[in-house]
Amino acid sequence: MSTYRAFEATGVRNVQLVERELVDPAPGQVRLRVEACGVCHTDVLAVEGLRADPSLPIVPGHEIVGVIDAVGAGVTAWHLGDRVGVGFLNGHCGECEPCRRGNFVNCFNQAQTGTSTDGGYAEVAYARASGLVRIPQGLSAIDAAPLLCAGLTTFVALQRGGNQGRLTRRSTGHRRPGASCAAVRTQPRVPRGRCGTRYREGALRTTVGRTRVHRQQHHRSR
Ligand SMILES: [Zn+2]
Ligand SMILES: [Zn+2]
Repeated sequence: MSTYRAFEATGVRNVQLVERELVDPAPGQVRLRVEACGVCHTDVLAVEGLRADPSLPIVPGHEIVGVIDAVGAGVTAWHLGDRVGVGFLNGHCGECEPCRRGNFVNCFNQAQTGTSTDGGYAEVAYARASGLVRIPQGLSAIDAAPLLCAGLTTFVALQRGGNQGRLTRRSTGHRRPGASCAAVRTQPRVPRGRCGTRYREGALRTTVGRTRVHRQQHHRSR
């Protein structure tokens, strides 16, 4: 019997290294050799026993990067050797009503990696083919893994707040488990008036409303 090593969370605040039996992936699933797995705040659900039945062991970790080493029946889009990532959503069914409407995030038949199905704190992980994303060869596994959950939230904060010139905090934990806190400091944008004059540095610390007043005063004084 072939085995692989995994860290299981059992009960409350107990994690242990165990040997798991290596089995073939179920139909529609793939098996990965894990290269890296990020650590996310949502892993506390498993480790603290905040699950339906904490006595059942679960492997935490839902920011997985790995290489496919086996494909289950019916999987056609992914092949041995493909480098892929798995996030918190372990793959939608494609058949329930939300899926038929294209609302895959709210699939009725979707496991949660590291919470309701085993995750990536292991040498091997399993996932539905529909839950995979391709990972570019030029991106290291350690860099790519966090992007599969909380790192994506940070990226979105940079993308949407990069022009604000102030500390941007985004908290989307209510929609994306684990992405509860990501704070980034963006490059300050020096505000300019219509005349092209840069405002004094202190204006950067003002709120949007006060900045508007400042601009009005600035132009009135000219
Ligand atoms: Zn579904
Ligand atoms: Zn997460």
